[in-house]
Amino acid sequence: MTQAETAVRGLDVAAVRAQFPILTRRTRGDRPLVYLDSGATSQKPLRVLDAERDFYLTRNAAVHRGTHLLAEEATDVYEGARERVAAFIGADAGEVVFTRSATEAVNLLAYAIGNATIAGGPDRLRLRPGDEILVTELEHHANLVPWQQLCLRTGAVLRWLGVTPQGRLDLADLGRLLSARTRIVALTHQSNVTGAVSPVPAVARLAHEVGALVVVDAAQSVPHFPVEVRGLGADFLCFSGHKMLAPYGTGVLYGRAELLDMLPPFQTGGSMIEVVTMERSSFLPPPHRFEPGVPLAAQAAGLAAACDYLTELGMARVAAHEEALTGRALAALGALPGVRIIGPGTTADRGGTVSFVVDGIHPHDVGQYLDELGIAVRTGHHCAWPLHRALGVPATTRASFYLYNTPDEVDALAAGVRRAQEYFG
Ligand code: PLP
Repeated sequence: MTQAETAVRGLDVAAVRAQFPILTRRTRGDRPLVYLDSGATSQKPLRVLDAERDFYLTRNAAVHRGTHLLAEEATDVYEGARERVAAFIGADAGEVVFTRSATEAVNLLAYAIGNATIAGGPDRLRLRPGDEILVTELEHHANLVPWQQLCLRTGAVLRWLGVTPQGRLDLADLGRLLSARTRIVALTHQSNVTGAVSPVPAVARLAHEVGALVVVDAAQSVPHFPVEVRGLGADFLCFSGHKMLAPYGTGVLYGRAELLDMLPPFQTGGSMIEVVTMERSSFLPPPHRFEPGVPLAAQAAGLAAACDYLTELGMARVAAHEEALTGRALAALGALPGVRIIGPGTTADRGGTVSFVVDGIHPHDVGQYLDELGIAVRTGHHCAWPLHRALGVPATTRASFYLYNTPDEVDALAAGVRRAQEYFG
């Protein structure tokens, strides 16, 4: 069955929910849980938990060490997981570096580029004072602060694209800001606040024309719709497992083989070396060059199980389901007087993170009131402080949807916000 056909058939949400026992628990006042905070972290299905548990129950041993059977099996599980995760994003296994989070993936890359700069590495990776790194005001701090720090270490200069009043990436300044000085363009694929999806392929094409590397923060896209790294034009791409049904402690740095090959390591130690003498060391090829120490094999097995599950369901179908929920939420919240959506008001080129403000009520109060009703949302600046500043709101309330959410839950959210207005009004 093609992705388009499965999307048409729709998700069997009841069957999906049966994989997530936590969704049956009761919350305050014995109310059913309405979990609308998957943008922060998703819930984990039984088959992911089973995969992680099975590793510990039957194959637990240190990966890439030891000559015994268990170590061999553990290594097979870990490297097999890498292949399945790579297939999920259309990459080769050697291009997938396991990290502990998206944050760690961006830091790994930024520090490694810094190391290339200090050590006189290849020109393609080296930054010189006055070189520029272009980011955007849409960024999560994870894809902003590491680049600020890299600028401090190298003398490179940070530039950024702004946002439109609707919370989309504003490309008006792209022509002016992209130049031969631009060495890195780092941008989010989907905003974790406004839900806006950035036109990454178009930006990547222009960035490549000036010789810049393209780094994509896909923490909010890979879990939610089909992402294929080559079509995207990404040189590097980061995402986290815990937002896509996988355990904590899983993340990925994808890097184009040719670039990973020339990238020096970030953290060093055991497992990533070729030869060590008292004077110096040489390092393994990628991806192992970037994975020092005993790796998180059980968690990687969980991430691979999450990829398998999402693939079986069909990412196009997951995306279609979320789009329907998002459309319903935009309509229901948008119809409430005094509620303003912070982000695009239609589902075109946007995903299922719906942030909003309610006139006269602080977002934290909205969140707390919803919590009393059993509805879990996130409030605050969502690690995107500059974006909130640019949009002129100190904080927002954010509902974020995933494959296990239902139309009834969206309606409960809208009804809850209306009740909050009555309560605080
Ligand atoms: N980038 C975006 C867009 C995010 O939403 C998040 C998490 O909220 C991150 C990066 C950081 O992800 P992690 O928790 O895996 O470090």
